[in-house]
Amino acid sequence: MSIAQKIKLTDYLPAEVTAGKTLWIGGTWESAQDGETFASIDPASGVEIAKIAQGKAKDIERAVQAAKKGAKVWAETGGMQRAAILRKAAELIRQTREALGTLDSIDSGKAISETAGRNVDGTAGMFDFYAGVTDKIRGSVIDMGPNTTGLVEKEPYGVVGAISPWNYPMSNAATKIAPILACGNALILKPAEQTPLSALLLAHILDQAGLPKGVFNVVTGFGAEAGSALVEHPEVPKLSFTGSTATGRRIAAVAGQKLKSITLELGGKSPFIVFDDADLDAAASGAVTTVFMNQGQTCTSCAKVLVARQLVDAFIAKCQEKVASIKIGDPLDPKNDLGPIVSQVQLDRVKKLLAEGIAAGARQVEVKADYQPVDGGNFIAPVIVTDLDPHNPLATEEIFGPVMAVYAFDTDEEAYAAANDTQYGLAASVWTTSLARAEVARRVINTGIVWINCVHTLSLNTPVPGRKASGLGSEYGLEALDNYMRLKTTVTMFGGYKGLF
Ligand code: ADP
Repeated sequence: MSIAQKIKLTDYLPAEVTAGKTLWIGGTWESAQDGETFASIDPASGVEIAKIAQGKAKDIERAVQAAKKGAKVWAETGGMQRAAILRKAAELIRQTREALGTLDSIDSGKAISETAGRNVDGTAGMFDFYAGVTDKIRGSVIDMGPNTTGLVEKEPYGVVGAISPWNYPMSNAATKIAPILACGNALILKPAEQTPLSALLLAHILDQAGLPKGVFNVVTGFGAEAGSALVEHPEVPKLSFTGSTATGRRIAAVAGQKLKSITLELGGKSPFIVFDDADLDAAASGAVTTVFMNQGQTCTSCAKVLVARQLVDAFIAKCQEKVASIKIGDPLDPKNDLGPIVSQVQLDRVKKLLAEGIAAGARQVEVKADYQPVDGGNFIAPVIVTDLDPHNPLATEEIFGPVMAVYAFDTDEEAYAAANDTQYGLAASVWTTSLARAEVARRVINTGIVWINCVHTLSLNTPVPGRKASGLGSEYGLEALDNYMRLKTTVTMFGGYKGLF
């Protein structure tokens, strides 16, 4: 039995929500119009933990109408007032740390040590960061000659559609909610069907913080129903999506047809390069962190580990040593570092890819972690494989599971070629003590982020700009504001207009 099965959701969520009214529309909790629900499953035990309303096109329609009203009120709310509400939300998020962390853990299988720790800090931080800029948004004035003034204003879009994934449920939702609100928009969030609970508590928190009704709306449901209805809706001119590249392409195709603005944060196959002059211990620590954190379910995970040939054995030995200290088990047990994979579907996918990779010649290295799975859960122990050729499925596909694939290289050029030999361009991590190598790597590697002698070192002010099949636009930082405002130019003439005719 998992700890989640002993938890009472009524201790963490409003009573209406635990009764299955999980649509937050115009400031009230509602059921889906046709009354349908689906089960939310605890990944640590495979047991149902909640009934979730299965929102569809009609529910999206109701949410869009509520959001249009909310958008009007919010756009007329001054920046100082917006900042105060976002700041209050950050404070309430910190006060609700345990509940938010618990909900993300029972939904996604992430360890409570992470969810109630750095994930809540990051989520609250998002609201504080964008509270700090919402009252500082400015336009510009252009000198256009005598009697003429040009004004360039930044205006909100009105209603934004946000679709979030299951791997960092509350943090990824906050990465959208906070800047979208800071820019003066209303939004409709469609959280991933596997992990809707923390978004519902965030809705309650934003309400408590004084956000006007209708400004933030949540429609739970499946991607093909609620998600695509949101993407298609003619009164939602801006979409923000984080998830798989396949779904991102589908959304981009619709947005292209309808000429909507989109921000996409998609998949990756990010390289991790260890040169022969690297600090091997630090590099091994980085590799074990990036590959195994969150059970490998991180879009910026640098799991394609390229190591200078003469260091491969020593590097793998160090990784084995470090993996031995990772504790995997019930995600709600605070001593554990990792829990299960989010769903049976994802676990099956990872296992299938691993089996194909091994059949294609990858050699599995022995790894012993402190592995204590719960019966019925989607658990998988960390895996390290090596001796892969570049066509091995583990070398080409995004794995999204706890699998480190180690490749040997002989020359720097070979390492860079392998790093760039992918459809993706999200992140890279490079380990070297040579300034020249670091500089060349930074220039040659075609990814949005390059970490030198570190990995996953980010701040709220650091943009994450995906390239190639990894995304469009950039979340985080001041750059995210450009995603959620559009320009308006006004030219005013104070008399003296002379036309062509
Ligand atoms: P995964 O395949 O790992 O579940 P997805 O990229 O499909 O990842 O899911 C990320 C988010 O996108 C989820 O909220 C999901 O419901 C949503 N989604 C999936 N398909 C669509 C779609 N066709 N249109 C809009 N949203 C979708």
